[in-house]
Amino acid sequence: MDIKSIVLSEPVGEKIEVKGWVRTFRSNRFIALNDGSTSKNLQVVVDFDQMDEALLKRVTTGACIAVSGSVAESLGAGQKVELIADKLEILGDANPEEYPLQPKKHSLEFLREIAHLRPRTQTFGAVFRVRHAMQFAIHKYFNDNGFFQVHTPIVTGSDAEGAGEMFRVSTLDPINLPKTDDGEVNWKEDFFGKETNLTVSGQLEGELFAMGLGKIYTFGPTFRAENSNTTRHLAEFWMIEPEVAFNDLFDNMTLAEDCLKFTINYALEHCAEDLELLAKRQDDEEKSLPQDKRTMPLLEKLQFVANNEFVRCSYTEAIEILKNSKPNKKKKFNYIIEEWGADLQSEHERYLVEKHFGKPVILYDYPAKIKAFYMRLNDDGKTVRAMDILFPGIGEIVGGSQREERYDVLKKKIEEFDIEEESMWWYLDTRKFGTCVHSGFGLGFERLISFVTGMNNIRDVIPFPRTPKNAEF
Ligand code: ATP
Ligand code: MN
Repeated sequence: MDIKSIVLSEPVGEKIEVKGWVRTFRSNRFIALNDGSTSKNLQVVVDFDQMDEALLKRVTTGACIAVSGSVAESLGAGQKVELIADKLEILGDANPEEYPLQPKKHSLEFLREIAHLRPRTQTFGAVFRVRHAMQFAIHKYFNDNGFFQVHTPIVTGSDAEGAGEMFRVSTLDPINLPKTDDGEVNWKEDFFGKETNLTVSGQLEGELFAMGLGKIYTFGPTFRAENSNTTRHLAEFWMIEPEVAFNDLFDNMTLAEDCLKFTINYALEHCAEDLELLAKRQDDEEKSLPQDKRTMPLLEKLQFVANNEFVRCSYTEAIEILKNSKPNKKKKFNYIIEEWGADLQSEHERYLVEKHFGKPVILYDYPAKIKAFYMRLNDDGKTVRAMDILFPGIGEIVGGSQREERYDVLKKKIEEFDIEEESMWWYLDTRKFGTCVHSGFGLGFERLISFVTGMNNIRDVIPFPRTPKNAEF
């Protein structure tokens, strides 16, 4: 039986067998056993006199064991039932001289170095059970709302996505590159006969499917070779990108807000135990901080976001708010906002969300100059129908837009952005044949998980993080 079922059904009197990893063994009598099915440990009681001493010596933190016995009501605090062992077998030893995880608090930085073992800790067990539930909730949300998932390519031949630096995909020998007559690398000899990269977004291909299937979403790995060593950026992450025919920018905002609330509520409902544990972790972590530096308690924060309407604020309004803000006037921002057109840095985004509005904020209608070529130009000729959703502690969690559906305007934009028009023929075709208003957004899955679990560093919510100079495991 797995421990989750035992805790749920409390099968007192039944004979069962469990397998798992030892968390602690105290007083030569009580083993706290965990098998990953739940954050809860099963208390296994061994009778020292009945058991082989050499065998019990091998019951150390991290060892894998199988125990059979009968379930009994527990007299001790902390659990309703326990397992009275009559047979114990060591499946795999964990030599305490070498095993790096001990029943004490380890720093997250240290655990990142042993990412192959951190799934065995209470915190990471909780994080990755929540991650699983959240990806299920995403699929449930879109499926229940009539969306179709599309698997857009991971290797892409289009260099126009423009969302960031790309990783090259090539089978050419780097020491012996084929050259053209004028000394350039001859990509025609590469595997695909052209330059290819790992995708930075499935949007462009997603749009093609929205123009046939109506409502689609992608949920896949995304790669950006940006050298930003922040707590919010990974070189490999997972992104959810819905794209909907006939949605305008405001429908797009409504969809994103509804989707976020649904998935957060899903976690509150289905991951209560793990979230409580993570909430406690956050409390412990912040205990030493002064009151004004502490974040809202985790569960309160999640309920707050799930139950409150997000603020909608145009870029132009946001600039006014920021210009007149204290940190701007007192030159506390690293980037002082002086005029309309400035790109917002995360310090500004956080000011708006955490200080000014105190709620998630949807910023929209950004200057065309600081946004991608495919966003629909407004009638003012200088802003585009873009929107970013900003969350407390995270900053941008969603970036989206209404897409430019007018052939001539899009073609002009492609020229202005210096994008090779020939490489975009298929994208332009959708505007030539049966074009329509449509919108979509990208939701960073790890940023969402980071928000929901209260794990401040994005490296702690993906199994094996890829960041600059780091691809271990
Ligand atoms: P940022 O400004 O935070 O770097 P972006 O504007 O480059 O993000 P988009 O291209 O709009 O990001 O991507 C859509 C979403 O994907 C973002 O809102 C964010 O949630 C997520 N995202 C983007 N880049 C990363 C990254 N390097 N690591 C993890 N998530 C990311
Ligand atoms: Mn963005």
